[in-house]
Amino acid sequence: MTAATRGLPVLMYHAVGSPMPPGLGELSVPPGLLAEQLSALAGAGYELLGLTDALAARGSGRKVVGLTFDDGYRDFLDAAVPVLADLRAGATLYVPSRNVGGTADWLPGSGAALPLLDARGVAAVAELGIEVGSHGAVHVPMDVLPRAVAASHLGESRTVLEGIVGQPVVSFCYPHGYASPVLRRQVHALGYDNACVIGHRVSPPGEDPTAVSRLLVGPQHDPRAVLDLVAGRGPRSVVPALKRAATPAWRATRRTARLAGATWT
Ligand SMILES: [Zn+2]
Repeated sequence: MTAATRGLPVLMYHAVGSPMPPGLGELSVPPGLLAEQLSALAGAGYELLGLTDALAARGSGRKVVGLTFDDGYRDFLDAAVPVLADLRAGATLYVPSRNVGGTADWLPGSGAALPLLDARGVAAVAELGIEVGSHGAVHVPMDVLPRAVAASHLGESRTVLEGIVGQPVVSFCYPHGYASPVLRRQVHALGYDNACVIGHRVSPPGEDPTAVSRLLVGPQHDPRAVLDLVAGRGPRSVVPALKRAATPAWRATRRTARLAGATWT
């Protein structure tokens, strides 16, 4: 495969070690398994980079995997950062700015109490060289928000996070993965360089940088499965199973968003 035709695998993680509520277990990977998964990639010669750096390496011929962690769980600092540091790996952490210092209040059941990093924690992550990106102002599907509200959330979250980390915030992650063409244009117009969706595929060459595809990695992936995933050889049966498992909770949130969208200002 040549540099021009090689896709960019971007992995999507969420929590590292925190217990997720029933039905969302794929959103938390134990720290030991994270170390095994990422060590396998490093051992296979992949550079592990945050999304902005990974996109910059597109077409260079370098063997790169992008690493992303959504939501800013407090476990990121204690459980993921040591693994990343051991491997000298970069990553991008996506934070919903109004939830900094709060909890994952958008998750169902016990998930709503999961603690998120406070401003000091987010700043510490950035000081370690890990990219901090925006996950919106609040964790709602933004494609169903009124356009002006979505624009204000995009601007507000960027301003707040830049104030915390003291450097530009150029990467965005659509909450719940929903990105309409209008929203993608807003992300670009408001100064973000890139944004990621879910996608369930290796990001192909030439993909829209405001809708970069990612691969969901969970506790069900042993190191071999992760190597297969980044090589575009994910077991076909796993992807539909994951989509089936993940969709109901996200759909419910989306319906709620449609009903209550006008209140998110
Ligand atoms: Zn999220």
